[in-house]
Amino acid sequence: MTTDETEGSLVDFYRDLHAHPELSMREHRTSARLAERLRAAGFETTEGIGGTGVAGVLRNGDGPTVMLRADMDALPIAEETGLPYASTVPDVMHACGHDLHVTGLAGAAAQLARARDGWSGTLLAVGQPGEETAEGALAMLRDGLFQRYGEPDVILGQHVGPAPAGTLGHRSGLFMSAALDAEIRIFGQGGHGSMPENCVDPVVTAAYLVTRLQTVVSREIGAREPVVVTVGRMRAGTRANVIPDQAVLTLNLRARDLHVRDRVLAAVRRIAEAECAASGCPRPPEITTSGDFPALHNDPGLVGRVRVAHHAVFGTEAVLEYEPLLASEDFPHFGAGGIRYAYWFVGATPQPVWDAAPGDRPEEKLRGVPGNHTARFAPDPSTVRTVVTAMTTAAHACLG
Ligand SMILES: [Zn+2]
Ligand SMILES: [Zn+2]
Repeated sequence: MTTDETEGSLVDFYRDLHAHPELSMREHRTSARLAERLRAAGFETTEGIGGTGVAGVLRNGDGPTVMLRADMDALPIAEETGLPYASTVPDVMHACGHDLHVTGLAGAAAQLARARDGWSGTLLAVGQPGEETAEGALAMLRDGLFQRYGEPDVILGQHVGPAPAGTLGHRSGLFMSAALDAEIRIFGQGGHGSMPENCVDPVVTAAYLVTRLQTVVSREIGAREPVVVTVGRMRAGTRANVIPDQAVLTLNLRARDLHVRDRVLAAVRRIAEAECAASGCPRPPEITTSGDFPALHNDPGLVGRVRVAHHAVFGTEAVLEYEPLLASEDFPHFGAGGIRYAYWFVGATPQPVWDAAPGDRPEEKLRGVPGNHTARFAPDPSTVRTVVTAMTTAAHACLG
């Protein structure tokens, strides 16, 4: 098989995944396609780990165990890219590029298997479900991923994003933030819209709460500490002349470390309880949390080694140093036991799209290019080659 044939078939593989996105923890088709590829490459492959997770192992003599991880899930977004291989599933889209991560893993696994005379050790290829909901990594770990295959010595992961296609983004140490979702259920007392004096209106309480919660960021946390409190959803009521019984707010909280994140959550609880008391709610609000994303801390030594390997293949000018991000990943769960990991970004924006965006500085350009989680996120097709090469070279650098 020539390199061209391999690359062509990988582009087809990517387009097929892109056209058939699946929501978190329901990645049945995607994981089956990945498992097929891993088996064909000679990996001993198991499906159904932690739900729809898949893992393949290739043992090749003495040396470290290197785990390569790709997340597989898509998002509830209606695609508007107009691409010939756009989603065929209504209101579901690979808008975060996880289809590229799966392609990168499949391609790297095949390349490393073919080149096994040049390295020794064990490769563990992992297709993870449910990254967007922070469920998948924990589900695979709880289902005995490391008991079945042994703990890896190092873990490698990558993510595509808005930056010129062909560039990579590295960062030593803290790279991505801790995040958590919180739901606040406000209990009012419903009634006829004409008689608010006989009711406790939870809509008004919710409205106060939404604006007041922004003071957590501006008045309670130091200006040097990046924190985000987003109320992504408000739900209450059915029609204009009915005061509802309840209102529900759904929040996303982000901070660089768990300590700060927990301070933010404590402030949210305190304000929610006090605001409900101020409104005369018949009972305190119910506050629940979900979607636990730990902060991502890249191992400096490992990142150094991967960076050198990427420099050699992509050139130093293509490998950029990133600042810490307020985005989050559930990838760090795999390293919770002290396993070293390295995680990098891969630019996916077509160069003409990047050039056409207004502004000169990257921060300005980012406002003008379709990013992750948007309906027009359309990675450049050349990114297939980049993710495969980036993962293959990084793995090579870590194997014996
Ligand atoms: Zn995402
Ligand atoms: Zn993602």
